[in-house]
Amino acid sequence: MIDFHTHLDLHENPMLVAKQTSEKNAFTLSVTTSPRAWLKTPQFLRSLPNIRFSLGLHPEVAFQKKAEVGLLLELVAQADFIGEVGMDGSRNHRSTIHLQKDIMDALLKECAARGGRILSIHSRGAVSQIMKLLEKYPDSGIPVLHWFCGSKRELEQAISLGCWFSFGPAGLLTRSGRSRLAAIPLSRLLPESDGPFATIAGSPVMPWDAQTIVPDLCELHGL
Ligand code: MN
Repeated sequence: MIDFHTHLDLHENPMLVAKQTSEKNAFTLSVTTSPRAWLKTPQFLRSLPNIRFSLGLHPEVAFQKKAEVGLLLELVAQADFIGEVGMDGSRNHRSTIHLQKDIMDALLKECAARGGRILSIHSRGAVSQIMKLLEKYPDSGIPVLHWFCGSKRELEQAISLGCWFSFGPAGLLTRSGRSRLAAIPLSRLLPESDGPFATIAGSPVMPWDAQTIVPDLCELHGL
């Protein structure tokens, strides 16, 4: 099983969780929230064969981390995977949306110049703006929209732009989440946990819990 979006470095006891994750999952993408966090990932974690760390700058901390934007762009050359990056237009983060957009624009431009990257993208409340940027930089790589919560029309647009999606058990707790998952083509879908941010019944969703979407997927797709 794959977990395509987790935050291993933010779990309690990351070393132990990473070791268990490596044993239980076939592949795990651990996203980071800042370029410095990516740089400081310990060698022990980097040496686990089926776990990759992606270079990120989370849109929710765009303002706090803006001094690291230069570092983010510089490190793209060394990173196969980029994330967590993106834009957040929800009420709490709307005030930095212009800064978020500038960062994302520069990042996609750099990814395109480097031949493209695989990107784990946050798009809450900003799907149409993310789509515009992806259209502007078609060579930026393969966008994977994480925990997509846009409209049906936005979903269709994202599919036509070649986006993939990562979706986890916490996203299945609502009816709207279930109907979105039902509309995502299985050929473009990857499981995710998004722990420890994502929780179920007060506990963080662990990387090996990503697979618990399978029974629901089967039901939603009549398989
Ligand atoms: Mn996340």
